[in-house]
Amino acid sequence: MLAREGEREKVGDKPVKYHGKWPFRRVYGIQVEPVAVALSALNLSIQFHGWMSFFILLYYKLPLRPDKKTYYEYTGLWHIYGILAMNSWFWSAVFHSRDVELTEKLDCSSAVALLGFNFILAILRAFSVRDEAARVMVAAPLIAFVTTHILYLNFYKLDHGLNMKVCLAMGVAQLLIWAIWAGVTRHPSRWKLWLVVVGEGLAMLLQIYDFPPYRGFVDAHALYHAANIPLTYLWWSFIRDDSEFRTTALLKKPK
Ligand SMILES: [Zn+2]
Repeated sequence: MLAREGEREKVGDKPVKYHGKWPFRRVYGIQVEPVAVALSALNLSIQFHGWMSFFILLYYKLPLRPDKKTYYEYTGLWHIYGILAMNSWFWSAVFHSRDVELTEKLDCSSAVALLGFNFILAILRAFSVRDEAARVMVAAPLIAFVTTHILYLNFYKLDHGLNMKVCLAMGVAQLLIWAIWAGVTRHPSRWKLWLVVVGEGLAMLLQIYDFPPYRGFVDAHALYHAANIPLTYLWWSFIRDDSEFRTTALLKKPK
């Protein structure tokens, strides 16, 4: 691939994609994207840091109910989010260092699972769905859809075009939900929500209009990984604010 790219460059041709991927430099004989690997690892550690800070705030700093449960109604959902996000960055790091079919499927499936769960989370939080039965009614069809999609990708056809459409639809839908909520809510940290929505929107554009790797290392996808670092930091900051905000609101309410 890279030899061909060298020839193309000499005659003044622009880089092309091979099997839907840009040609990257080979390090130690294997096709690696060192920048994407490093950024995935960094994202994983930022996620872990965010999740830990949320955990410490809820269980050690904010008051707990007599049964040792948190007052905040979305604790469990954010725990699942943290685990799915860390899982997704882990497989992203693995995939960008060993690009084979198995790692590609694992990376892709984890990313879809995270995106699907984020969509459920957006609906539940923005519409303040607290009732268990109502939550199941929202989540069940979406979980069924996402599971079917993942099984299709893994065992029928790893269709990148179709996957792009599904991910884009779920991504745009949840950004709209958060944006509308940020517009109407009087949440004290709604500006953080706004920043994340705008940032995620821009990051999504990077996913769609990808450009060839700069010097064989940094492409649009790596840049997308980089954009996620400040966004993740801000997102966990919003989650912590939200848990504090809801806990204070619940404690103020006369019993
Ligand atoms: Zn990636």
